[in-house]
Amino acid sequence: MFALAGQGAGGYQEGMADNRTIELGGREVALVVRRSKQARRLALRIPGHDDSVELVLPARAPESDGLAFLQSRAGWVLERLDRLPRRIPFVHGAELPLGGTPHTLLFFPGMRAPVTLAGPEILVSGRPEHMARRAGDWLRAEAKRRIAPLADEKAAVIGARVARVTIRDQKSRWGSCAPGGRLSFSWRLVLAPPSVMDYVVAHEVAHIAEANHSPAFWRVVDRLTADRRAGRAWLRRHGVQLHRYG
Ligand SMILES: [Zn+2]
Repeated sequence: MFALAGQGAGGYQEGMADNRTIELGGREVALVVRRSKQARRLALRIPGHDDSVELVLPARAPESDGLAFLQSRAGWVLERLDRLPRRIPFVHGAELPLGGTPHTLLFFPGMRAPVTLAGPEILVSGRPEHMARRAGDWLRAEAKRRIAPLADEKAAVIGARVARVTIRDQKSRWGSCAPGGRLSFSWRLVLAPPSVMDYVVAHEVAHIAEANHSPAFWRVVDRLTADRRAGRAWLRRHGVQLHRYG
């Protein structure tokens, strides 16, 4: 009757979502309630991109049933939340992987340039209260600096054209391709090893030619990146970690 979906499992994206906080085992926990036409039973998910739990309600299930179900699985939910990788906010001394390589975020309020990359250090200037945002802005810009030329290069291989590259903070996907060659990517890919970024860019560029996941699509991906399987496997295994930064 009931399903306990693990981290990243499930995949109910449709329907209305509603965000709130509930008390679970004496703790305040962020809850997202989602109605799904496709869901046939109540389900709980720990998406992992934040510290929330998601309750999926089939179209006609009373919400009270869902909340009772959630309370009955409180132990499971809290245990899963506790097992998530710890959050790494953008504070002085924070360690983060840039291109998969360890870097340290350091704040130097008096420095002239807003952000300077100096070897394994990312130096951020400005007022202390703006530093986290400035570091985040720089990482987004850096993602675009790396992804946009890569996308153009790959598109040229298959005679396609990228109309636009947009950098976002998507929770549920690493990239997307809209008609006309408009590509979007998560800025967090700048934290992954270059081969992983390469795979995601290849994947979205391949969608310009093939708007599906057919064998023909995967053949295009294989022309554009060296090891798509390794890229996918890395994201499945470490993707949640990337959402814990900032
Ligand atoms: Zn795809």
